[in-house]
Amino acid sequence: MNVVRRVPVWLVATVVCAALPPVLGRAGLWGFDQYHALILCFGLTYALAALPLNLLMGYAGQISLGHAAFLGLGAFASGIIAGRLGLPFTLGLLVSAVVGALAALVIGLPALRLRGLYLALVTLGFGLAMASMVFRLRSVTGGYAGQAVPRPQAGSFVFLRNADLLSIIVVVFGLVWALDRNLLRTKVGRGFLALREDEEVAAAFGVDVPLYKLYAFGLYGAISSIAGSVFGHVVGFAQQESFTFDLSLLFVVIVLIGGLRSRPGVATAAFFFGVMPRFFTFLKGWELVIAPAIVMLTLVRHPGGLGQTFAEVKALRTRGRKGRRVAVEDDESDTASASLVLPRPAFLHEVADTATSSRKAEGTAAVPLEVRDVSVRFGGLVAVDNASITVESGRITGLIGPNGAGKSTLFNAISGFVRPTQGRVLLHGADITGLPPHRRAALGIGRTFQQIGLVKDLTVTENLLLAQHRLADYGSITALAHLPAVGRGERALRERAAETLHALQFERFAQSELRELSHGQQRIVELAAALLTAPGVLLLDEPSAGMSPAAAEALAERLLQVRDELGQTILLIEHHLPLVLATCTTVHVMDAGRMLTSGPPTEVVTDPSVVAAYLGERVA
Ligand code: ADP
Ligand code: MG
Repeated sequence: MNVVRRVPVWLVATVVCAALPPVLGRAGLWGFDQYHALILCFGLTYALAALPLNLLMGYAGQISLGHAAFLGLGAFASGIIAGRLGLPFTLGLLVSAVVGALAALVIGLPALRLRGLYLALVTLGFGLAMASMVFRLRSVTGGYAGQAVPRPQAGSFVFLRNADLLSIIVVVFGLVWALDRNLLRTKVGRGFLALREDEEVAAAFGVDVPLYKLYAFGLYGAISSIAGSVFGHVVGFAQQESFTFDLSLLFVVIVLIGGLRSRPGVATAAFFFGVMPRFFTFLKGWELVIAPAIVMLTLVRHPGGLGQTFAEVKALRTRGRKGRRVAVEDDESDTASASLVLPRPAFLHEVADTATSSRKAEGTAAVPLEVRDVSVRFGGLVAVDNASITVESGRITGLIGPNGAGKSTLFNAISGFVRPTQGRVLLHGADITGLPPHRRAALGIGRTFQQIGLVKDLTVTENLLLAQHRLADYGSITALAHLPAVGRGERALRERAAETLHALQFERFAQSELRELSHGQQRIVELAAALLTAPGVLLLDEPSAGMSPAAAEALAERLLQVRDELGQTILLIEHHLPLVLATCTTVHVMDAGRMLTSGPPTEVVTDPSVVAAYLGERVA
């Protein structure tokens, strides 16, 4: 019984849908004939081809204007393997995947440095180069004549009937759908979504940004080429003219209409684009005018695409069921923000203990964090000028100074987002100056950002799962298969996220998107997320910004509790002086990039030079 219940829905749906066409086709039920089967083949192939582009654009926030090139690579590879060499079509699919992945890695490399329009241009160039050069090589692709892609064959059985071919496509589509879904439910998908939002935020949670970008491109290329290969088998032919920029653009439009990130939305939109031309032949070319008009109207009125419409319908249905309760909860949330709390640290011990014990092996010096003579230049501006700081273990060290003093830049130098032009950063005595941000996060540098460092369109729970990126004890490749180890790992993360929500008394926000919370509430989630990374040293950049004085007071108490009960070492940038006075043992004052003075907070704030530099600005 248990086994039956654990069979996933997608698997059942795939098997049933794959079995249906041949049965219907042979029995002639519901008037289902081979022509209908062919139309469905096209629809499903389009859906299959759109999913990887959604993965790349919707999840990972990268772009590809060379989509058709990947489809073409798959179609030609299968043509050569199954057609010219007469090898099994499954081998063709496999080779397509490998070729597609490799090509995608090549255009992924520039993506490590380029973003937005520049990256779009690189992918566009790749698409054009493939279409105008590689796909025209007579020896490889048959040139203008093209390359035949025969119907798949299994043993002596040839999938000649469209209904039989449809079964194969259903299976491939089901597998890709499942892979896509697994991906999104694990640390890999969260890593992708995080780097779409903000690469620095992703890196601060320990996501290896360059690696994950390449991973996204590799997956994209592999799946796209598989789709291209299927496309070849459906048409029976691969020709250079089929894989031009128009097709690339069409798929970008499909993903936008379907709704970035929405798998059902994108698949549905693509399906219709694949099916419709065969029903609208009577338009005699006018579809080229009508379709763009419809596309524009749709996007203007529903910028979130089909996916958003699906979500709205779903939300309407749930609201209908518990309408009044939601309204009451909204009222509560306003009062709750006055009494902001951090997770009770008790359950964090476990996380902290495992993290510190693994770090101890690397040799722990007495001083957790030391900044030695660090300077950071932006062009002619010296943002940080020869600054040194020592952070004491188990204490809260303050860093104050007027706006533009260089405090946040110093944080960036510590956490690896800017390279100092001189000086060193030592973590437990080890020089980490040359390490990338995700490595520093792994070594125990946790941080929050002046602008909230979370993913706005993920739910609160998903953000708390993202925070535990490094604590997820399964591999990035195994995540795709959703093996039992992945399930166990994810359950552990979810339990911890649930405990955190409970401790914050934020259970009612568990499924809310982060953007729906007030600024103060987002700050608290951010702090809790930073604590969940079990950092050796926690860097907080103006945590009380945007909070009421009462909330800031509650924050001070909670920070002290985190310090005392977890022995958490904290470096705190803060404008709100009462919070600094209440929590810090030592305070460093920065002005115009330089360290002005340091000492116990009560002494520092009465120092005349500090009053002049820091408080003077406020009085003036
Ligand atoms: P603080 O956090 O103390 O208010 P910052 O560290 O944000 O100050 O900024 C210090 C100085 O460096 C400011 O003059 C700011 O304009 C400049 N700055 C910060 N980041 C950059 C950057 N990425 N490029 C150029 N200038 C920057
Ligand atoms: Mg700042």
